[in-house]
Amino acid sequence: MPDLSAVLARAAAGGRITPAEALALYVDAPLHALGSAADAVRRHRYPDGVATYLIDRNINYTNVCVTACRFCAFYRSPKHPEGWVRPLADILERCREAVDLGATQIMLQGGHHPDFGIEWYEQTFAAIRAAYPELALHSLGGSEVVHIARVSGLAFDEVIRRLRDAGLDSFAGAGAEILTERPRQAIAPLKETGAIWLQVMETAHGLGVESTATFMMGTGETNAERIEHLSMIRDVQDRTGGFRAFIPWTYQPENNHLKGRTQASALEYLRLVAVARLFFDTIAHIQGSWLTVGKDLGQLTLHFGADDLGSVMLEENVVSSAGARHRVNRAELIHLIRSAGRTPAQRDTLYRHLLVHDDPAQDPVGDSVHSHVSSTADGSAGPMASSASRLALEPV
Ligand code: SF4
Repeated sequence: MPDLSAVLARAAAGGRITPAEALALYVDAPLHALGSAADAVRRHRYPDGVATYLIDRNINYTNVCVTACRFCAFYRSPKHPEGWVRPLADILERCREAVDLGATQIMLQGGHHPDFGIEWYEQTFAAIRAAYPELALHSLGGSEVVHIARVSGLAFDEVIRRLRDAGLDSFAGAGAEILTERPRQAIAPLKETGAIWLQVMETAHGLGVESTATFMMGTGETNAERIEHLSMIRDVQDRTGGFRAFIPWTYQPENNHLKGRTQASALEYLRLVAVARLFFDTIAHIQGSWLTVGKDLGQLTLHFGADDLGSVMLEENVVSSAGARHRVNRAELIHLIRSAGRTPAQRDTLYRHLLVHDDPAQDPVGDSVHSHVSSTADGSAGPMASSASRLALEPV
């Protein structure tokens, strides 16, 4: 057993810790000492005390998927009567609504439709890019690249080049789930391996397409497997520097084939956030997930190493389909950050500060910018849904 105090002191000062040390901290370090060390790293990186948020919209282009992940409540198999494809006009309308509400980013996310090859994605990205050049397209992930490569008979690098040239700015960290082989096989047996997911990301970074990295905790993985996930990501980051942020979130257990499995507890989540901040000496940002762990715990992550609370999420259907019911509006996000002792700032996809809320008297008013303005996942579709939903989904 390493000397935990010495490891914490080294990590708090910006020194590198090994995977074995990270595991020891994760399992045995006193919670407050762990949080304090992670917060020291965060303060050193961001001495201005700013913590950020983003306004973006997740747009789902189809729920049809051949990969059938056991944790997923969103997908429908090909030929399932509830399968649909969202027409391009509907996607563009959702982009327009997002721009009207101040969104700076779109995250296109969908199933692995068996008929969607590279041309479908090129046409969609090019259409959005032409109509809304101000929107960053932070979309898809390693799994989509693998799927497109298979459908179109292309190499990974060719898929990435063509997506980039059609308008993709960066990859979302989606599809990482857990990269460690045993638990990944258990929850997503048809998905590419973690090693392949990382190979795609490394290729993308080499082609100038950066990304984030995520971690879905709580599907039955061991503590050692959690740390191995972090270690696999850091190995790639050491070579590429292309992961902008690490975003852990918790598995939601409803309406899927894994239901009944335990979610990660609040303390496990906080400990993971803190260990991630200490372990990822080469990743700039750590994001807390209010969507899956709730606003209060999300706020607490700001004292355990996180410097970002992610997006307001004008629309989100995938995780919400599996039971994530937390909702937030822009004013609440600003309040959560400020009452945690930080200065809130709206950021863009590149983490540049767009609007620093350093004067409460100047805060945006009204709550029109809120999560799930439009959501098909829980029947809570709001006013925005009225225009977009007039454009009917195409059944498949
Ligand atoms: S998580 Fe993605 S790849 Fe897996 S079944 Fe759901 S939509 Fe398909």
